[in-house]
Amino acid sequence: MNRRLALFPETTALAATPAGEALTIAACDLHVLADRFGTPLYLYDAATLDAALGTYLQALAEFYPGDAGITYAGKAFLCTAIAQWAARSGLWVDCTGEGELAIARAAGVPRAQILVHGVNKSAQDLAAAVAHAGTLVVDNLTELERLADLWRQHQRPFPELWLRFRPGLAVDTHAYTQTGQQDSKFGLEEEELRQAAALCRRAGLPLTGLHFHQGSKFRDPAPLGAALARTLDLAQALGLGPIWTLSPGGGWAVAYHENDLPHPPIEVYVQAIARQVRTGCQLRGLTLPHLRLEPGRSLIARAGVALYRVGAVKHSAGRRWLLIDGGLADNPRPALYGARYSALPVRNPLRPPLGPAWLAGPYCESGDVLIEGLALPDINAGELVAVPVSGAYQLSMSSNYDGARRPAVLWLEGGSAHPIQVRESLEDLIRRDRPLPTTAA
Ligand SMILES: *Cc1c(COP(=O)(O)O)cnc(C)c1O
Repeated sequence: MNRRLALFPETTALAATPAGEALTIAACDLHVLADRFGTPLYLYDAATLDAALGTYLQALAEFYPGDAGITYAGKAFLCTAIAQWAARSGLWVDCTGEGELAIARAAGVPRAQILVHGVNKSAQDLAAAVAHAGTLVVDNLTELERLADLWRQHQRPFPELWLRFRPGLAVDTHAYTQTGQQDSKFGLEEEELRQAAALCRRAGLPLTGLHFHQGSKFRDPAPLGAALARTLDLAQALGLGPIWTLSPGGGWAVAYHENDLPHPPIEVYVQAIARQVRTGCQLRGLTLPHLRLEPGRSLIARAGVALYRVGAVKHSAGRRWLLIDGGLADNPRPALYGARYSALPVRNPLRPPLGPAWLAGPYCESGDVLIEGLALPDINAGELVAVPVSGAYQLSMSSNYDGARRPAVLWLEGGSAHPIQVRESLEDLIRRDRPLPTTAA
């Protein structure tokens, strides 16, 4: 199989059309979808999403003898339909603050399946979490004192509390996506965590678990070992159990470019964690915790494809520019982290390359280059280009820069495409605006 094609969702195929071969996903004709819904257009393939979840669940069943489950890290991409998918698949949904919590509630995610994360949660975030979440992950001592006040005011039911540990260990990823190192803004270091646990005990707060998240987009599970060991040491020192929860966060990588293939196997990640938790608990005489993994990217990134239309082709100092109708506003990751993507034209995707091309969007920033120097065939204005592995941290970080309207999002399943988010309109751009006050005469 063509390596670049292997980045695309599992249902991707080539269909014969009068104009040659064309890419299809979930048996949907991408030219038809682009004509009907406009571009840029985001597609989510249900089968690929289900398959990634299936791999996680199967690996947990195979390698972890205790109670275990998956929490979807909603910040990768959350909307009503995705939250519904998570809920109906039995996942918990990790919500950052009251905004994502409101989306999960609108989707009908039951309280027990809602977990709230966040650094510097506002009073409103905390109130919403206490009112609607089954679990809240405490980031700092100030927040915990505020929670203790709410507990004393007899707000019931109350979420179970986990403490977020900062293990002081980095994983190998971009500095902007590391979160577990000692100078990180996230979580409690060991001494603070002990104080937090003592406060919980004094106040009678329901402390039931420990959490850490070392960073995003790592492909070697080895550094997790030391963080797990420290977390289990803490669990032992705090006397957690017999029923307790351990959440080693998420962060497992996916391949974005054919040079990064194969996709790091989810089984390798789950097996490494499961083995270390089992042996670590045995060593310390701890009961096996309820193990909750928290993937975002590795669950949803591959299911997503972004579809753009080439508006013009131009050349500058030997560079071939394919000017597309999206970029920075729907996907800031290349500008933010230097993320590298790949792409294929939708029509005759496997025709031989002409040479490198630079795919740039319409926005007024030189950093609005989605893909640099990718070998691509001769592509004309008007053609569609599909960018694989576009399901995570793109739309959730999208903006209205230059008056961009956020794209429509389609759910592809069983040969049909169903809109789960409509494209923003011109009215949406001014919906929050109010005119200047009329000056007194
Ligand atoms: C972002 C995040 C995740 C998910 O990270 P991925 O790289 O998308 O798997 C999980 N837990 C926490 C606390 C996070 O901040």
